[in-house]
Amino acid sequence: MKKSEEKLIVKGKRVDGRLPEELRNIEIKVDVISRADGSAEVAFGNTRVIASVYGPRALYPKHLQEYESSILRCRYSMAPFSVDERKSPVPDRRSIELSKVIRLALEPAIFLEDFPKTAIDVFLEVVQADGSTRVTGINAASLALALAGIPMRDLVCACSVGKVDGTLVVDLNGKEDNFGEADVAFALMPSKNKITLLQMDGLLSKEELKKLIGMAKEACKKIYELQKKALREKYKVRE
Ligand code: ADP
Repeated sequence: MKKSEEKLIVKGKRVDGRLPEELRNIEIKVDVISRADGSAEVAFGNTRVIASVYGPRALYPKHLQEYESSILRCRYSMAPFSVDERKSPVPDRRSIELSKVIRLALEPAIFLEDFPKTAIDVFLEVVQADGSTRVTGINAASLALALAGIPMRDLVCACSVGKVDGTLVVDLNGKEDNFGEADVAFALMPSKNKITLLQMDGLLSKEELKKLIGMAKEACKKIYELQKKALREKYKVRE
């Protein structure tokens, strides 16, 4: 990790004025892509990701089919205009890795065995990046899957935690992600208390990691409530 010239924590506050355990402002919109079977847009501060889900649909060529389950395919991609310097739209190693970890974070939540010989496609488009894009994408994807009517064991909630200027923090922004001492991407199925993603970059002691996992679980519970609220609003019966 690079070291920042600028101090990232001043008088207990972070560069964007937040306290260590404070999440950024979270915005959730559902059904943003009319052609998709399910879609959602989630913003954590300036990080904004659109997820769209297609399927379950018949999978061709046939040799790709699994006879006892559906297959989940995820594509994470960062729009060329999502960062300060134009990002090439060609999938790079980072996007390929993130597509895989996002798939692994979502798979345990889906009843794939209910839809043999099919595929469920999840597309994540990062339209603006300011740290924690993979976890924002997982939150959007899990909502889009639910909105597509795909049977799930639970929603998947995700957030990042890390260490910045020696302080343990929740929901890292771009500066904190790039210049902090460590960052951890975390995803959870809250009602099962099952962790589906845990990735660490940087150095942390065992105690710090334990504490961060606790902080991430608390943050995921808040995100879970917002996700459920967004789903309920959609299906609200009008009086
Ligand atoms: P995540 O976005 O999941 O935290 P990374 O740790 O790889 O994933 O990236 C951290 C942040 O660095 C991103 O959220 C984004 O703000 C920034 N970033 C990543 N790739 C690029 C890029 N190609 N150009 C500019 N900024 C980037």
